[in-house]
Amino acid sequence: MRVTPFGAAGEVTGSAYLIEVAGSKVLLDFGFFQGNSRQDEKNVIPPQLHVGELTAVVLTHAHLDHTGRLPLLTKEGYAGPIYGTPATLDITAVILRDSAKIRLTDTLHDNRKRQRRGEPPLEPLYTFDDVDHVVALFKPVPYETPTIIAPGITARWREAGHMLGSASIEVTLEENDKKRVVIFSGDIGQRGAAILKDPQPFTKADYVILESTYGDRDHRSIPETVHEFEEIIKTAVAERGKILVPTFAIGRAQALLYYLALMFRNRVVAPFPIFLDSPMAIEATRIYQNHPELFDEELQMLREDHPLREDLKTVTPTPTPDDSRALNEMHGPMMILAGSGMANAGRILHHLKWNLWQRETWVLIVGYQGHGTLGRQLVDGAPEVRIFGEKIAVKAKIRSLGGFSAHAGQTQLMEWYGALTANGHSPKVYLTHGEDMPRQTLQEKLRAKFNANVVSAQFAVPIEIV
Ligand SMILES: [Zn+2]
Repeated sequence: MRVTPFGAAGEVTGSAYLIEVAGSKVLLDFGFFQGNSRQDEKNVIPPQLHVGELTAVVLTHAHLDHTGRLPLLTKEGYAGPIYGTPATLDITAVILRDSAKIRLTDTLHDNRKRQRRGEPPLEPLYTFDDVDHVVALFKPVPYETPTIIAPGITARWREAGHMLGSASIEVTLEENDKKRVVIFSGDIGQRGAAILKDPQPFTKADYVILESTYGDRDHRSIPETVHEFEEIIKTAVAERGKILVPTFAIGRAQALLYYLALMFRNRVVAPFPIFLDSPMAIEATRIYQNHPELFDEELQMLREDHPLREDLKTVTPTPTPDDSRALNEMHGPMMILAGSGMANAGRILHHLKWNLWQRETWVLIVGYQGHGTLGRQLVDGAPEVRIFGEKIAVKAKIRSLGGFSAHAGQTQLMEWYGALTANGHSPKVYLTHGEDMPRQTLQEKLRAKFNANVVSAQFAVPIEIV
């Protein structure tokens, strides 16, 4: 029995693991490598992985960096089951369709250039058809119910608190008389995050594959971040500002709507117009509303009084580009939530171009901003930026909120692992889903505190389960 990582080893994208036991071959997550265009050559089926031999696929959660390569499997003829929680499968369908659309648009763009150079056109990495074939294979599984997914492999999904439907997965491997438990953390969320239940740790395992995205630091606390958010909104609304929020469509957008609903309900600020300017965020919000069983206790209680929808009567979805363009002519106070989350693409670019040079504009940065992105330039205080080739002066007020991360910080990762050592045994840990620095720091911390055997997982290097 063994587990081989095919991504997210020494980086935070491309999550994929091949589990082999008793003749079964199961893939756990099959995510996209993201970050820059050079990553695209990594978005393939690794040669060591033979699609015809795969027995099943299981998913921890819907994010593209955990699901984005699935259509490559169906393109190669994979027709076995794909297991995930119901919400994960609902959201995965939305994410993969969006991904297919981006592949198609990019390929058309590239092909126009190739044509001018007299080169033959290329095919997109995958199409809507490939995605439809993926969706047809979905098999929903409930949380906490051990499910036999292949001979010798039983899986149990447990709340990871990272996004709607997200899970850590306990995998029990059996071969002859040998039985081993391997836990895949998936991405672990922050305790006390909006909407979601807290991550639930496991208490027993032989091996743990642990994410380490923020293995080197803690975030600012959520209550402090919410307070900061409220103060910014109060000031911006009092000044009748136009508040632009580059935001990830799934997770962050819904969390912000939640906090805005509470502000309106508690009369922290009077309701003002909010525009959800992202077709994917609109669809994701609908999926969130369809899964109230996954909400945390706090949101359940709030809903008993009255649904959040009633607090959010001033929220308008703007699905079409025309709806989006109409926002240019409007004045504050108002808020526009639009992608992309790092302001390097998407509708937010148009809003920034129209408003960044105006003093009454506010830009609220609520997520991680990668190097080289427009979002990062704004956070770093650039006096002018380039948008669609045009120089734009930055006169807007830029505010940054660091505490709304969907990932647990160092302390909570340590506590999640700590729960597994309660019986006096420290399971062997393989760290993945983290860049070198966070991964190394977490490694040292886990060794010092739990005397754990901690290893950095490597791409395509098998982990033998002994
Ligand atoms: Zn994730």
